[in-house]
Amino acid sequence: MKTKIVTIGKADSPERISEKLVEAGRIIRQGGLVAFPTETVYGLGGDALNPASSRKIYAAKGRPGDNPLIVHIADIEHLQQLVCEIPVKAQKLAEAFWPGPLTMIYQKSALVPYQTTGGLDTVAVRMPVHSIARRFIQEAGGYVAAPSANLSGKPSPTSAKYVIQDMDGRIDMILSADGAEIGLESTIVDVTGEVPVILRPGYITQQMVSAVAGQTDMDVTIYDNSSTEAPRAPGMKYRHYAPRGELVIVEGELQDVVCYINEQAALHAARKERTGVIGTQETVAQYHASSVKNAGSRRDAGAVARQLYTILREFDDEDVAYIYSESFAGAFEDEGFGQAVMNRLLKAAGHKVVQV
Ligand code: AMP
Ligand code: MG
Repeated sequence: MKTKIVTIGKADSPERISEKLVEAGRIIRQGGLVAFPTETVYGLGGDALNPASSRKIYAAKGRPGDNPLIVHIADIEHLQQLVCEIPVKAQKLAEAFWPGPLTMIYQKSALVPYQTTGGLDTVAVRMPVHSIARRFIQEAGGYVAAPSANLSGKPSPTSAKYVIQDMDGRIDMILSADGAEIGLESTIVDVTGEVPVILRPGYITQQMVSAVAGQTDMDVTIYDNSSTEAPRAPGMKYRHYAPRGELVIVEGELQDVVCYINEQAALHAARKERTGVIGTQETVAQYHASSVKNAGSRRDAGAVARQLYTILREFDDEDVAYIYSESFAGAFEDEGFGQAVMNRLLKAAGHKVVQV
């Protein structure tokens, strides 16, 4: 399949932007797939109400069939069609955080095909704030199923370059525009029970959710890797966000961490193995390795979130075989969002953590 790559930029007139979005929307309504930017990461969109479109999304990503898709809407009125009921707490959360990086899980209506929900009776819904994403969803008919636009298992794409790398030849169109300012996937909250439960941490933190909806729990599998329970967001059980190189997180006093990583990098260099380091503004000058990346200040969860997936992808581009990252546990000023960053880093590392 030939993939059309369409860039929307400052040079485009409003009419030209409209034309491009109308064309993208038409592809979705005709059962095709279009990748598009949002404020979190790029999404791989298809018509959420068309079972054949959802099947195509799974095929394009190589995604396991039991890992449900998130339905994106641009208009709050459209939520009613997708769900059986809108619980009061969910209504409050929508008022507080939509449009934005929050996904909510509801009991699904008969309109939503099981192909979109991975066979579940619940449906995940999000209303993004990104203006191109919203206009695209409207042109597409209002209901766009969209997981992240990466091949299954790889880090979510935060730029069109990495969407093209994974999806060129597999989908009809890629919309390229500024976006992914947050850099991590949305927070997922299950609102089907009395107490909301966070199934995937993100920019909207547990504290922010509980300030609006009262007591809010966190799925135990997010913070306890030894838990024998299955994650309630099916996707969280899969290998995820992972670079090709073997990633290890190093935890301890910062100077000890730097020393350990440099020692490992020297050992690898002696064996002619390429090593990557995820360092920070505070430490980056002290590392000696094949490729040293600066993820931003150790205190700034937002900066590290924006950088993380790009860095992991760059290591793949550079054929790095071993990757060491400083741990950020306890380092970030924004502990809530920091938890989301550490969650993704731990998953990317398959929970390999070395204490020094
Ligand atoms: P992605 O869009 O790639 O971030 O994947 C969507 C995430 O939402 C996956 O982790 C899914 O498991 C989760 N998800 C989607 N629908 C549901 C649902 N009905 N119940 C629980 N988790 C869901
Ligand atoms: Mg994903």
